Amino acid sequence: MLDAPAGLIVVDTGRHPDHQQAILAAAKVRGKPIAAIVNTHWHLDHTGGNQEIRAAFPKAEIIASEAVDGALTGFLKRSRADAEAYLASGKASPEQAADARTDFAAMDDVADLRPSRPVRASGTMTIAGRTLQVHLEHYAATAGDVWLYDPKARLAIAGDLVVGLAPFMDTACPQGWRAALGHIAAAPFVTLIPGHGAPMDRAGFAQWRRAFDNLLDCAAGTATKQACIDGWMRDAAPFISAADRDRVPGMIGYYIDTRLRASRQEKARYCEGGAG
Ligand SMILES: [Zn+2]
Repeated sequence: MLDAPAGLIVVDTGRHPDHQQAILAAAKVRGKPIAAIVNTHWHLDHTGGNQEIRAAFPKAEIIASEAVDGALTGFLKRSRADAEAYLASGKASPEQAADARTDFAAMDDVADLRPSRPVRASGTMTIAGRTLQVHLEHYAATAGDVWLYDPKARLAIAGDLVVGLAPFMDTACPQGWRAALGHIAAAPFVTLIPGHGAPMDRAGFAQWRRAFDNLLDCAAGTATKQACIDGWMRDAAPFISAADRDRVPGMIGYYIDTRLRASRQEKARYCEGGAG
């Protein structure tokens, strides 16, 4: 949440009601209206709360890329069909069922997912009276990732282009993502806020980026999948909490199978010209 002359700027709104309650409580403490929402990307753990925030602050604009339009007819549509089938099977726990219904409600409210002020290119934007550098990356973690740089605060807000424990590659074009990390590195930030995990300094970001590059290089080579997983666990160790240590190897293995070492067609799915 950033202070701006005309109110507060919220970057991403979370998925669960407790996220939105925390955002609204913080706004109350600061005694300012929420004037704008920036969505770094369309994943529902970043956009699912737009509706609740705009219910409290109807004038809040939504600044985001238009990649959500492709997602609504592609990834989100497919994942919804899968979730509905899983619910119908009766195998979902009450928590999983509640999460799925929260996501369905977010998907149904397209007006609160689509940008009211689209980001179509990188450049300077005045948001709620505050000037920020708004960067658009094509075909990285999603087809359109937005990250912010505030030159005065020397602050970068990276969204899921940086995620401590593991790059979430479900909708990623890995080579585009690698290029985006180069663009972030070129900004003279002192502090970087990742999409998930603790803030990083430049050295921390450089280490995470090396881990990312090593994972892609490893998967492109002849090493075993396990060797690439072990490499990630070693290179990214400072960013993986004890609570996440058991699940991260499986995640990295899944991304190697489904993105990094999949068929040529599958690898290109989320890259320019891919199936989406
Ligand atoms: Zn995320």
